[in-house]
Parts: sequence; C-alpha cells; structure tokens
Amino acid sequence: MLTLKSEHPVPSVLKQLGEMTACRDMHLVEQSLLRTLGPVLGIKSTSLYRVDEHGVVTRALHHTRDAAMVGGERYRTCDQTGEPGSAVGLEPAVADLLSALRLLDHSCARPQPGGYLIGYPLHGADHLCGYVVFERDHEVTPTEHAVIHGVLEVFSNYYALLDASQRDRLTGLLNRHSLELNLTRMWDALAQRLKHGAEAAQVNRRRDQAQTYWLGVLDIDHFKKVNDTHGHIMGDEILLLTARLLEGALRRSDLLYRYGGEEFIVIVAANDLATATQIFERARQAVAQFKFPQVGRLSISGGFSMADPAVQPQAIINRADRALYEAKADGRDRIYFYEELIRTGRLQEVQSGTIDLF
Ligand code: GH3
Ligand code: MG
Ligand code: MG
Repeated sequence: MLTLKSEHPVPSVLKQLGEMTACRDMHLVEQSLLRTLGPVLGIKSTSLYRVDEHGVVTRALHHTRDAAMVGGERYRTCDQTGEPGSAVGLEPAVADLLSALRLLDHSCARPQPGGYLIGYPLHGADHLCGYVVFERDHEVTPTEHAVIHGVLEVFSNYYALLDASQRDRLTGLLNRHSLELNLTRMWDALAQRLKHGAEAAQVNRRRDQAQTYWLGVLDIDHFKKVNDTHGHIMGDEILLLTARLLEGALRRSDLLYRYGGEEFIVIVAANDLATATQIFERARQAVAQFKFPQVGRLSISGGFSMADPAVQPQAIINRADRALYEAKADGRDRIYFYEELIRTGRLQEVQSGTIDLF
C-alpha cells in the first residue's frame, strides 16, 4: 500500500533526484533536497541544519509549503561550559530533537501541537554533518521512511563527492574552483544587499551579521628556499602546517582557500577596517611565531582590499595582489591594505572592470 501523497511517488522522486544530482553547486543541491522531500511527503516545513567540525549548528535552509526560504541562521550547540548538545538560540523543541538525533544517530519524531516534528541525521564521508527536520501532521510510515532514507543516502553521497571536488587535496582547504563559485554567489548577495539598502542592513545587524567583506592574498615568504634546502616533501608539510595555523587564527565566519602553490586567499567578514586588520595581523603572527619542525622560523606576506560589490571579484583579487607585492618589496612578514596604499599615493588606481548594480 502506498501512503505517499503523490500519485506516482517513485517516478516523481527519481525525477527530483535526477535534478538534484545535475547541480554542481552545493547550495543548489541543498535546496533541491528540500524541494525533493517537501512535496513528496506533503509536509508543512523542512529545515536543513549543517554541523561543522566544531559542533556548531547552522540552519542552512528553511523550506515551507509556500516555498519561502531563508538561510544562514547560526546556532551554537555548546553552552558556556562547552558541553555539546545544549543548543543556544534554537527553539527548545528543535534543540531537543537534534540532541536526540546526535545521540541515537537515527531518525526521531516528537509530537507537537498540530502534528509531529521529525528529524533525520545526515552523514558526510564518515561523520555526522547535518540534520533534516520537518513538520507534518502525522508520523512517517515504513514506506515513506524507506523513500526518505534512500533520498538522504543519494544526497549524502553526492554531497561528499561535491565537497571533495571543492577541496585542495594536500591541505584540505577550499580550492580555487570553490573560490570562483563562492565569489560569484557572494557578489550577488552583496549587490542584493545594496539594492535593498538600509532595510536588509538592519536585519543583518540584528542578526549580528557582518556588512562588509575583506579579501586578502597571503603568500609564504621565500618558500622556494624551503623546497631547495629541505626537499619538496618537507615543503608539502610546511604548506599543510601553514594551512592549519591560518585556520586557527581565523574565525569560523572567515573563509580560507588555497589559491595556488604557496598562496592563500582569505575572505574576512568584518564591519570595520580595524577588525579586518586585526584578523589579518593575527594570521601573520600565527605563522611568524611558530617554530616549524626542522625548518624553524617562516613568515607570510599579504595584501587585502575591501570587497566592493561594484568591482569585479577578479579586480579585487588583483588589488590585494598589488598590495602583497608592495609588502614583499618592503621586506616581507607584513600585510598591507590596498586602499591605504592608494590613499597615501604609493599605488595608483588602475581602471578595472566594474559591475552595473542598478
Ligand atoms: P617570495 O617570498 O617572493 O614569495 O618567494 P618564494 O620563494 O616564496 O616564491 P616563488 O614564487 O619564487 O616560489 C614559490 C615556490 O613554491 C616554487 C614552487 O616550487 C613551490 N611550490 C608551489 N606549490 C608547491 C607544492 O604544492 N608543494 C611544494 N613543496 N612546493 C610548492
Ligand atoms: Mg607565490
Ligand atoms: Mg612565496
């Protein structure tokens, strides 16, 4: 007996799965997952929660029957004492469900006024990486469970493949391909924010979200000498260690990419220049203060620029690169701010591609 809402549930699910795995963008794949599960199960709302390696839960997407979606709500699953699972900021019923999902690693349902809150854990390559939570007026039947389970398995496998394709194999950092995807999306979001002006800005301020991004290019100083003196394998180890040091110095809201060889790109979310400078400076110091096994002391140089949505992302990278070049010229182990170099007349602005925002 079929208890699914749709008349031909299996072909409909297959068609949706086809659409889901046709996407190459992780964000679109997530949206597609909720769109696949939503109509098939006749549910009131679905949410996708992501869990990062620190146990921080982010509601990545929310999908209601009216197809309204919001994203980017961030919740902590640790309380002041660092006890995992005691979610802060989440609705108590959701927090309770997520903590049961985490402990049992199996689907769970909780009765609530007007129906049920139902959750499924999501698995990455070898670990729990998120949860799907939905509301509906009755519990999941065994047939529905099998369909949901199958859809989530396809999703998880595909998601893990996509994730691997967006990471650098040596350092595990996001790679250049992923940078290109994210820059396009980020610039669209920045332009939207400008268009909707103060209204959106106020909402973001309430949510404690940064209004401005800063893009930096960081480069290990005299790295060729490390390879020449200690060999390529040791060079690889230094790259890996540097990636970990930079990650440690940055905050969860910052993005770190391996841009190529011994170059990294950092996108820092900060409302003012002082905060951005502080984060870049912390990254520089983390490397300068570390004693690398066998190699000893090393340093990085960098340049950064404000992510102006009216300027093409590649032009912003070029600006940061020009500031990096100046930092190298001044003796390395320093990070320069492009706009400051323009202001003081050290660099001249070059005409670069602009984006028509309105
Ligand atoms: P500068 O301070 O001016 O940046 O000097 P540098 O020696 O760091 O820069 P240069 O561009 O001359 O050399 C970069 C070196 O990085 C050359 C290249 O062999 C090495 N490299 C690039 N990718 C890798 C990698 O994946 N592993 C190793 N071990 N070395 C790499
Ligand atoms: Mg370089
Ligand atoms: Mg270098």
